[in-house]
Amino acid sequence: VARIIDGRAEAERVRAEVGRTVAQRKAAGLRPPGLVTILVGDDPASQVYVGRKQRESRALGFVSEQLTLPTSTTQAQLEGRIRECGARADLDGILVQLPLPPGLDADAAVLAIDPAKDVDGLHPCNQGALFLGLPGLRPCTPLGCMRLLDTTGVEVRGARAVVIGRSALVGKPVAMLLLARDATVVMCHSRTTDLAAQVAAADIVVAAAGRPGLVRGAWVKPGAVVIDVGMNRVEGKLVGDVEFAEAAERAAHITPVPGGVGPMTVAMLLRNTLEACEARERGEGKG
Ligand code: NAD
Repeated sequence: VARIIDGRAEAERVRAEVGRTVAQRKAAGLRPPGLVTILVGDDPASQVYVGRKQRESRALGFVSEQLTLPTSTTQAQLEGRIRECGARADLDGILVQLPLPPGLDADAAVLAIDPAKDVDGLHPCNQGALFLGLPGLRPCTPLGCMRLLDTTGVEVRGARAVVIGRSALVGKPVAMLLLARDATVVMCHSRTTDLAAQVAAADIVVAAAGRPGLVRGAWVKPGAVVIDVGMNRVEGKLVGDVEFAEAAERAAHITPVPGGVGPMTVAMLLRNTLEACEARERGEGKG
């Protein structure tokens, strides 16, 4: 039976590491990392997400600001506010909470973020840097997946990894991170015709499709690592994309939902913000 990968404990370790560095900075007379979260409109789920980011960043000693804009905000006004944050010396991280209300263009909004402060790693400069293997800010959930994978001690180099889902937020960047670690990566998506066979051949499975029960436990290769990114509400319960109980009988390591990848995302956002702060001090990412 699989070892359950404890995302809550690992997220706590990441927060502790970041918190220690922030405290050392303070002791050395350096300023704390600064994060701004930008929320447009009043979507309740988005309010919960930015609230969590605010709470956790403040708890570690960050300077954290919440910018709440009305639903009536125009694209030009939103981009103007994002650029203002980009120009401020005390801010290292700019997070635009997605999705934006209808009528606002998320891609254009992301383009207005200074790439050096793009702590979600969504700006084409950062996505391109990931593609090219250059330094840059990486998306938070994929970083969380890699960190959880590393807790297993399983060798990534040469492993056959199957990523299910090809979004810019999760699937594509996680595949690039696995490739950068010398895994042999197969990307599966909604048009993949042999998902069962692909999963059956995989040493590492990352499921990020948003389809409950998509990955059948019986498909999982004995001894594989299963990272389940899916967050689906089924009859009021949060479940992943993987048939957990059946998969846990075959995998060597598996993430639960909830308590797996979910808690890692905000932790990695905090780490990205600290890294953006340190990189800006070194004078990187300018121009
Ligand atoms: P998305 O809807 O943008 O992308 C889903 C991807 O899954 C698409 O590329 C699609 O091709 C693929 N897909 C859909 N149906 C499929 C099928 N039947 N077979 C194979 N592939 C299929 O979603 P996303 O933003 O990438 O998020 C994916 C899941 O991860 C969602 O459940 C989301 O809630 C969750 N998520 C969790 C976290 C977190 O844990 N912190 C963060 C982001 C997303």
